[in-house]
Amino acid sequence: MSPHRPVIAIYPGSFDPITKGHEDLVRRTLRVTDRLVIAVSSTSTESKEHLFDVNERVELIQEIFAKNDHVEVSRFDGLLVDFARDLGAQVVIRGLRAVSDFDYELQMAQMNQELGPEIETLFLVPEVEYSFLSASLVREVASLGGDVSRFVSAVVLRRLKEKIG
Ligand code: ADP
Repeated sequence: MSPHRPVIAIYPGSFDPITKGHEDLVRRTLRVTDRLVIAVSSTSTESKEHLFDVNERVELIQEIFAKNDHVEVSRFDGLLVDFARDLGAQVVIRGLRAVSDFDYELQMAQMNQELGPEIETLFLVPEVEYSFLSASLVREVASLGGDVSRFVSAVVLRRLKEKIG
């Protein structure tokens, strides 16, 4: 048997803010990889307006996974495959909630396959109760005064209340 090479995964996204759906995917990833780097993008190809700036988004994720030695959090700006190569990561994690995610995710995975053929995209599916959950919906409901406590961790809920009032 060849010696085991640690499997390093990157989970890229905006995480504005991190939700329990994202957290569910992190837990699932750790069942099949040795180390996970959550990569928080500071730029967005869709020129989205962010509620939390990139440092706040990184801090929230760090707080949530503070006790987990297998999880790291980092911001990134450039091309995902370059970032993955710098870290020695072999796997990119993305989530599939519904068919509506599929077109965009497939395109991105195939583009990343062109740019970095040595890196595999692994799609994971969340628990059914999180399959309708998105960070944008959390922002929207919270801004309208709705209760999002089921969908985000306590630290995120606190920061949402501070930010939105
Ligand atoms: P992006 O702007 O890159 O889509 P997000 O933070 O919205 O960033 O999502 C990052 C990844 O996490 C995407 O692959 C998305 O499909 C996945 N994701 C987001 N919410 C959930 C959820 N509730 N369950 C499973 N995957 C999710």
